[in-house]
Amino acid sequence: MKFIFVTGGVISSLGKGLIASSIGLLMKARDFKVNLVKIDPYLQIDAGTMSPYEHGEVFVTDDGGETDLDIGNYERFLDMNLTAQNSITTGKIYWNILTKERQGRFLGKTVQVIPHITDEIKSSLLNLGRDFDFTVVEIGGTVGDIESQPFLEAIRQMKKDLGKENVLYVHVSLLPYIKTTDEVKTKPTQHSVKELRALGITPDILFARTEVPLTDKVREKLSLFCDVEKEAVIEAMNTEYIYEIPINFEKQGLGNLILDKLSLEKRNPELEYWNSIIKRIKNPDHEVTIGMVGKYVELKDAYKSLIEALTHGGIDNNTRVKLNWISSEALEESGCCEVLDRERENNKLDAILVPGGFGVRGIEGMIEAVRYAREKDIPFLGICLGLQCAIIEFARNVCGLEGANSTEFDPETPYPVIDFLPEQRNITDKGGTMRVGAYTALLKEGSFVNKIYGKREISERHRHRYEVNNKFKDIFEEKGLTLSGVSPDGRLVEFIEISRLQFFVATQAHPEFKSRPDMPHPLFSSFIRIALKNKHK
Ligand code: GLN
Repeated sequence: MKFIFVTGGVISSLGKGLIASSIGLLMKARDFKVNLVKIDPYLQIDAGTMSPYEHGEVFVTDDGGETDLDIGNYERFLDMNLTAQNSITTGKIYWNILTKERQGRFLGKTVQVIPHITDEIKSSLLNLGRDFDFTVVEIGGTVGDIESQPFLEAIRQMKKDLGKENVLYVHVSLLPYIKTTDEVKTKPTQHSVKELRALGITPDILFARTEVPLTDKVREKLSLFCDVEKEAVIEAMNTEYIYEIPINFEKQGLGNLILDKLSLEKRNPELEYWNSIIKRIKNPDHEVTIGMVGKYVELKDAYKSLIEALTHGGIDNNTRVKLNWISSEALEESGCCEVLDRERENNKLDAILVPGGFGVRGIEGMIEAVRYAREKDIPFLGICLGLQCAIIEFARNVCGLEGANSTEFDPETPYPVIDFLPEQRNITDKGGTMRVGAYTALLKEGSFVNKIYGKREISERHRHRYEVNNKFKDIFEEKGLTLSGVSPDGRLVEFIEISRLQFFVATQAHPEFKSRPDMPHPLFSSFIRIALKNKHK
């Protein structure tokens, strides 16, 4: 049971998650069993109550964990399903300790950060590492933050507890590039390593995030001032596709360096399948542009898994998938038809996707975009809120239910086509109370989605509070909307489609969470295939 801890210095958003994922991948490629853990030092229990603007997408695990988006990177790089346990927050650790305190588990003692909080952190990590050869633990935030100190203290102790051949510290830092003098600066990195060492942690491997390649001189300087071996300074430059990152590290000898530092024999990795993914992403034969009509379009991290799932769908079709981000609010202001007509004329709209979201802002723009897709038979995929918008649009414009809406946006609507289930109605706590995690759906025999998935019983992950209101099911079906997937008890609508159109499909789930680069999700593959066909029509 070996642990690799990944810390970050100088600034946040250095891509520690991708570095942790890459380390995991290189170990898995050497046939080791690998687990990945994300520590977020904020006080929330989970990421579920945070706005995407604060923290990007909330990634959902099968067991209903509402986690950090890095968990999504881990799942995609290692092709494994993680759990809510793989995401640790300060809130969770304190919650456990305070619960134990109330149970009288510390009777007679003073409960303190050291040893109680640090012991709780350590035992959570040991639990997670139990069945694995390697556990890669990414510590969110930046070294020097007050919030992350108990975690850094805990991981410091773990080297003492487990022995130095079982614990490796990896530090990710920024080398700013000064254009005028054409040089990279190592000083901020020196300071952040100094800060780490003051906490008792000396990094074994240093990842230098840099815009320009590292010269020998810079490597030497970093090695000298940060006390890491020269070959343990790893250059981490931006790549066109994130899937290239582990390969770049492997070229620098990272995989065997880690084994060597942890007193293990060198092993050759099996990276052929990964290289073939990269080859296919980088050399596509075709290109499509998907219009993404959402409300968080300024912040791409809000749609992280969706972007990846579309890229995977592209890989499956030898197609580069370009995304045209269209603010649904802008559609409301400038006229949906005018804007979308123009995008189509400029070849920037081969299909329309309406993604998930919360709150009323921008909703009318999304509904209009669905109408546009339906009336002009543009391939359309609706995800979660996208399904709800499609239902509202269909109710208003096809079924004649004027003013139809979701009670999330208009509690007084005469036609609440999207509404709470009775069991949601009395819930007042917002944290952890949505329908979240994996749910089974039964697909209608012969439906479009049945053909796409190639089976009738499927499972997808969910994260929403509202549902299609069953009272309106009959009128929807009468008017030509197929409820093509429902929950096993028939109570919940999970998929809808309009079969007379070339591709008009929406789901209450978030299938993007389960797509993998080497196993593209069939729904996204089909969507891209039809978008491509539509382009050449
Ligand atoms: N706001 C909607 C709901 O809570 C949709 C959520 C989503 O798109 N994830 O049901």
